Amino acid sequence: MDLIKTYSNIIKKNLGNPYRAFKLIKLGFDIVYKYVSFFPDKRLPESLKYLNRICIKNIKKPIDHPENSIWVNIFAPTELLIAMQIYPLFIEAYSSFMSGFLIEDYLIDKAESAGISNTLCSYHKAFIGSGELNILQKPKMAVTTSLACDANINSFRYLSDKYDLPLYIIDVPYEYNRNTVEYVKKQLIEMIGLIEDVFERKLDIDKLREIIIRENETRKLINEYIDNLRLRSLNSTMTFEMYMLFTSHVFMGMEETYSFYKMLINDIKRAPLRTGKGIFFVHLVPMFENSFKEYFNFNNEYHLLGCDLNFDFLAEVEYDDPFEGIAKKLILNTYNGGFNRRIHSLGNIIDRIEPDGIIQFCHFGCKQSIGGAYILKRFFKDKGIPFLAVDGDGIDKRNNQEGQSRTRLEAFLEMVKRR
Ligand code: SF4
Repeated sequence: MDLIKTYSNIIKKNLGNPYRAFKLIKLGFDIVYKYVSFFPDKRLPESLKYLNRICIKNIKKPIDHPENSIWVNIFAPTELLIAMQIYPLFIEAYSSFMSGFLIEDYLIDKAESAGISNTLCSYHKAFIGSGELNILQKPKMAVTTSLACDANINSFRYLSDKYDLPLYIIDVPYEYNRNTVEYVKKQLIEMIGLIEDVFERKLDIDKLREIIIRENETRKLINEYIDNLRLRSLNSTMTFEMYMLFTSHVFMGMEETYSFYKMLINDIKRAPLRTGKGIFFVHLVPMFENSFKEYFNFNNEYHLLGCDLNFDFLAEVEYDDPFEGIAKKLILNTYNGGFNRRIHSLGNIIDRIEPDGIIQFCHFGCKQSIGGAYILKRFFKDKGIPFLAVDGDGIDKRNNQEGQSRTRLEAFLEMVKRR
């Protein structure tokens, strides 16, 4: 019996009763957490077993305690929330879990039947569908940014209206200069004022500095990890690359995140040398796509070397004036602004990691991803690195043309292998 399918069918049958459906989803998270804590996959290095636990543990917190949570997107400056002991519910991660629970089709259909365009990114549609079904518990507020993602602002506005939530949207300009830093800094200070009012607690600025100092130490480890990838690669799966998006973004600054990267450095230093072909991804990795799973999960012939979204900011954040530091971090994120910034950063990472091929998985509905595919193709052609852009959907499995992507992936990998 397929347990996940059975579980998914039970949730689907109960979606008409929001409280029961929420309880079932909560139960799903509890079971997954216990399972990965007691029966970790023995093939994984210790760091990734730990990553599995801390990601589920910290995504469960806002689900278990919605009254102490804020909905955020991946780029939200969550250092501020961590300093105030508020739990961020990272909507892209929530939707990924719903896809893992095999109920994303139902949630997406629900969003579309409420009038949401079918061309909206499915990470957002799955979250909106959960809101439409009232299976999301009401948090205290929502925070998002204008950075990179065209879907965020509208999705957050829509659900904040529906749930009657205070919403703060951080407008991040493309240009980096004194005026834009001041502009973002002013918004961050205003946003903290709102959060303090809503949660009736004060931000301790020294606590925030402590978190940023830890964040900077963590980023040193991420840089060390990147340099090790040139020679070695971990026995891993695409899911763990996606889990790293939690630690490199929303959970950045936490003690557990720092411990994870410490362990990761130990593991990568002891990992076997790269003997197969190393493949680096742009943006996301298609962790639910069967053909990709076959070639990149626990495979020594093709090494999964990561994705650039995990390395979208690699510098230090100023901690003496934390609002200024966070403002600069947001503006200088490589996913912000013109595509040239992204290309420049990708070029640097590629020079450090030296992959044998690059894959861009163009996620359905993601305009910034599809919009940049041609520019990337030209860039990698000039660099002499094989590049494949393949369309699919990171969440809604119905949008993946397995036969077609398998043919293209296999032809690409064959070409990489012959080089
Ligand atoms: S995949 Fe693209 S559209 Fe979807 S949440 Fe991410 S950046 Fe936004």
